[in-house]
Amino acid sequence: MIKKVMKLIQYVDILSASRTGGKLFTDEKYVLTPLAKEALKRHNVEILNGGSSMRKIIIAGNWKMNMTNDAAIELSKAVAAGMGEVKDRIAVMCPPFTALSSVAGAISGVNGLYLGAQNIFYEDKGAYTGEISPDMLISSGCSFCIIGHSERRKYFGETDETVNKKVKKALEKSLTPIICVGETLEERESHRELNVVKKQISGALSGLSKDDIAKVVIAYEPVWAIGTGKTASPEQAQAMHAYIREQVASLSDAVVSQSVSILYGGSMKPSNVKGLLACADIDGGLIGGASLKAEDFLKLVHFDD
Ligand code: PEP
Repeated sequence: MIKKVMKLIQYVDILSASRTGGKLFTDEKYVLTPLAKEALKRHNVEILNGGSSMRKIIIAGNWKMNMTNDAAIELSKAVAAGMGEVKDRIAVMCPPFTALSSVAGAISGVNGLYLGAQNIFYEDKGAYTGEISPDMLISSGCSFCIIGHSERRKYFGETDETVNKKVKKALEKSLTPIICVGETLEERESHRELNVVKKQISGALSGLSKDDIAKVVIAYEPVWAIGTGKTASPEQAQAMHAYIREQVASLSDAVVSQSVSILYGGSMKPSNVKGLLACADIDGGLIGGASLKAEDFLKLVHFDD
């Protein structure tokens, strides 16, 4: 007789889920160890196994190269004060490396508010002047890291290959990667946007197991909409998000692809957030400019109030 072995969920799995938004995905039958059961309640972690309703909304702020330490503390304290009792969503703030620890202190213990980095390196340590390792990010309080932002691809030589190495390293260390993809204006105008994004997705997720694909977050950021004030229409964004979900499914399966949060980025602001987040496959936003003002960022977090 062949017995189906159940997946064993352990204490460390719950801890790692609690650091990255409180959701633990599995599409298998599972049992919890006694310690994991206790931790599940203590850390308010949900175990999810299928269906689009499982996706938490993620509102992530990419501060880029802005904010000295004092300004970062002021902004993050103002955001922390306005978070309230959110349940179905989380907010992530991604300050520059220099402000990570200060922001971690300012938001410590605030419900639904997490810290992310804007980049990561794929080696653990060593002679890599100027780079930042995953352990350094974790020890500064990070749970998330943005990988492959178009500005890094454009100015710093980031490729699908380096993105893939960084995604693998982040996952190995239980950091949640927010993987950025998106086409330029020229690529859209020449009708190549689907192929461009398909290549970026398959490059970023190459060699990942289904379990690992279930842990990533993807941000669709049309380059022509970043920092330009031009936003993709909800229809344009939804069409690309649905396409991205199809690509994710082809690299994993339908259940996994339904669990992956796909954020929209590109001039998202209080005036257009509702229309975008009403779309079936848009699960949140990656926000540049509007994340630098607490009032605007909080309006995005509480977009449906
Ligand atoms: C970004 O940098 O990821 C971004 C979306 O910027 P903005 O919101 O300013 O367009």
